[in-house]
Amino acid sequence: MNTKDNSGDVRLSGISKTYDNGFTAVQPLDLTVPQGSFFALLGASGCGKTTTLRMIAGLEEPSSGTVHLGDQEVTNLPPYKRPVNTVFQSYALFPHLDIFENVAFGLRRRGIKSVKQQVVDMLDLVQLGEQARKKPHQLSGGQQQRVAVARALINHPKVLLLDEPLGALDLKLRRQMQLELKRIQTEVGITFIHVTHDQEEAMTMADTVAVMNAGRVEQLGSPADLYENPNTTFVANFLGTSNLIEAEVDSKSGDEIILKAGGGKLVLPEARCSAPTTTGGKVLVGVRPEKITLTHADDAGEIPENRNRITGKIADSSFIGVSTQYVIDSPVCPEFEVYAQNIDRDSRLRPGADVVLHWNPAHTFGLDAAQDIDAGVDIVEEAA
Ligand code: ATP
Repeated sequence: MNTKDNSGDVRLSGISKTYDNGFTAVQPLDLTVPQGSFFALLGASGCGKTTTLRMIAGLEEPSSGTVHLGDQEVTNLPPYKRPVNTVFQSYALFPHLDIFENVAFGLRRRGIKSVKQQVVDMLDLVQLGEQARKKPHQLSGGQQQRVAVARALINHPKVLLLDEPLGALDLKLRRQMQLELKRIQTEVGITFIHVTHDQEEAMTMADTVAVMNAGRVEQLGSPADLYENPNTTFVANFLGTSNLIEAEVDSKSGDEIILKAGGGKLVLPEARCSAPTTTGGKVLVGVRPEKITLTHADDAGEIPENRNRITGKIADSSFIGVSTQYVIDSPVCPEFEVYAQNIDRDSRLRPGADVVLHWNPAHTFGLDAAQDIDAGVDIVEEAA
């Protein structure tokens, strides 16, 4: 007999949403979020993540498809009959009630008389035990958001939905609350589905991230997997920075693809290429800025043979404490970014210097050049 509790699984099958004005905000979507996971829906403004969340909550009726929570189909259930609670960006606390009563509200509404121990436990969980008798306006934004989380969790939902819950907080508080929410989720062990446009927030908190673009999930995976192995130019540009070089498949050697770019050759592991690899085909070769080493052109002879390399000239450099960020003008890529840790800096690496950029071929990924490279960049700028 299978004894695994799957009552907090969220399963979307072919779910879509076309609004009355004919605009399709979510294209037919299949998605399974396993019980107990911290899942993030990440994407730029308008990509359909809130609409998806609202369909899970029952606040928006899908145009097609079904929603299951565990084994139960809830597609046609009203929000209050679903074992789900939502925390919004606006905390929506009751201003006239103190913190204790705000958290107790859901229990009292259900007619539960002895609420004290549950409320105390919940306030301890969100580390607000000392603040129980204060009114919401006497708390900081981060504390108010924790009250909102406690108020949702006291109803013992199977799934907690979080819609940009940290959006109103300043950066420092946001970072603290990300860790705090992660701790709370680990402690209560229920499924959290978190909507955000902040890639760093999604990567800090979630076990699994779904990157959404124009109503579709472009890629789904762990933060490290999405970062290291993006499948599309959108994902490569939305999560961190990617340098992309247009190249042509020259030949294959074992499990590596040899590409022509500019006048030189680059090596790409075949397993890291999501594009077709027929000879003569176009591939966008990607490499992250922190994977690259910069060597002054005068020392080029010291670079080991087995490295991917391109040449360029330093256009700009910014010292930002832990690292120096360089922009390199190269024949294969006009604005190549390189992040170098500030250890033993070479004082010759200044704007105007001729350099060789080189990296381990294992850190190269390949994308389908037929995709529109500009699409990803535009949306990142819009979200920033
Ligand atoms: P944000 O981060 O800005 O909230 P989002 O990714 O959560 O963005 P949604 O709120 O899901 O996006 O909206 C997706 C698209 O659907 C947007 O283009 C939006 O303008 C549109 N939309 C949302 N609600 C409606 C509505 N009631 N009628 C028509 N279009 C709508």
